[in-house]
Amino acid sequence: MDLRDRPQDSAFRAEVRQFLEEHLVGEFAELGGRGGSGDETFGFDVRLRWEKVLAAGGWTGLAWPTEYGGRGASMTEQVIFHEEYVRAAAPGRVSVMGEGLLGPTLIHYGTEAQKARFLPPILAGTELWCQGYSEPDAGSDLANVKTRAARDGDEWVITGQKVWTSLAHQSDWCFVVCRTDPESRRHKGLSYLLVPMDQPGVEVRPIMQLTKTSEFNEVFFDGARTHGDNIVGAEGEGWRVALATLAFERGVALLGHQLGFVREFQRIVAVAQANGRSRDPVIRQLLAQAHAELTIMRYNTLRSLSGIDGPVAPPEASIAKLYWGSWHRRLGELAIDVIGPGALVLEGNDPAAYELDEFQRPFLFSRAETIYGGSNQIQRNIIGERVLGLPPEPKGGT
Ligand SMILES: Cc1cc2nc3c(=O)[nH]c(=O)nc-3n(C[C@H](O)[C@H](O)[C@H](O)COP(=O)(O)OP(=O)(O)OC[C@H]3O[C@@H](n4cnc5c(N)ncnc54)[C@H](O)[C@@H]3O)c2cc1C
Repeated sequence: MDLRDRPQDSAFRAEVRQFLEEHLVGEFAELGGRGGSGDETFGFDVRLRWEKVLAAGGWTGLAWPTEYGGRGASMTEQVIFHEEYVRAAAPGRVSVMGEGLLGPTLIHYGTEAQKARFLPPILAGTELWCQGYSEPDAGSDLANVKTRAARDGDEWVITGQKVWTSLAHQSDWCFVVCRTDPESRRHKGLSYLLVPMDQPGVEVRPIMQLTKTSEFNEVFFDGARTHGDNIVGAEGEGWRVALATLAFERGVALLGHQLGFVREFQRIVAVAQANGRSRDPVIRQLLAQAHAELTIMRYNTLRSLSGIDGPVAPPEASIAKLYWGSWHRRLGELAIDVIGPGALVLEGNDPAAYELDEFQRPFLFSRAETIYGGSNQIQRNIIGERVLGLPPEPKGGT
């Protein structure tokens, strides 16, 4: 694989850079690249305005086909865009669920009417989405979904509870996996519905996280309604659609993630050099190891992205997820070691008003990264069964 830019890549890179130089100014630049996973509450309104600036410049829906308003960018162009985006310290995106998950799902499985209704406001940054999959008894075991939906005339009526729903409190719509055949079990009889959030039958209750912010929520549906046409795929065939969305959760955005890790790692090295901890042989060894692993991660990701056009399928996706989730958690621990005992102390005397610093926040939040998007144990199961050919995990029940 040749990692150097070809002339057309250099031209595209220059175009991205120019856009960012001209538009990433004022309140957008002041965010200093913050926002996004683990930091979602930071500068949300400004980031929402930034989404519209990106949209006006034609930089949303990069990977979407041009016929649906996207840019139809090649994988190389997407990688370049993410590299430049992180390098410029542009703000964390607010429309990840809509642009990265629901949009591609609708493009593949939606009706033309659904595409016409829902894709343009995602691209414009005027409608935000959340993912209604997990429930109290259905996380890793998603097929155990119990939220029900029944037809009432022209509408679906939804009743049940979702949990850990990221950004539900900011979202206009939710894509909900629910059981439309009350007699069905497991992955049969599920459907994939698009449900408006702003209605009396939907209650969103924020969950306080370890980081003291509330990025995710419990969502209660109590007779919530959506139009009968707002079903993606056939009734009872929602499992296939739900899995497709999960596959889109991986992909080129991964690389943007890792470039963010590079900046984080460099800041930790700078702190170690400034406070003298880089002279400690154990710390030096851990920093060198983290650097080597980060480089391996980058090349592995580029390898799994090369030659594909769409979601990254398992097992590559599972290997990548297990690797970056675990690596980032170790980096958080290393940052705390580098700073020393002071890292355990919060700024300020008022426990109700403390702010985590740039190392404490990822140290705490990175714990979540080995859980969401499929926990480490689930990724190991997939690798064990599909790569190593180990005996399948025993399934419960008879
Ligand atoms: C920050 C964050 C954001 C999230 N955002 C969303 C969202 O927007 N929408 C949404 O729907 N969900 C979201 N989730 C939920 C996430 O998808 C689930 O947490 C995840 O699927 C795990 O499910 P669970 O929490 O129910 O844990 P469980 O499935 O109950 O697992 C508990 C433990 O048992 C282990 N385990 C479970 N089954 C097996 C098995 N078969 N073999 C070995 N070990 C096993 C797990 O690895 C884990 O350690 C989010 C989670 C986090 C942390």
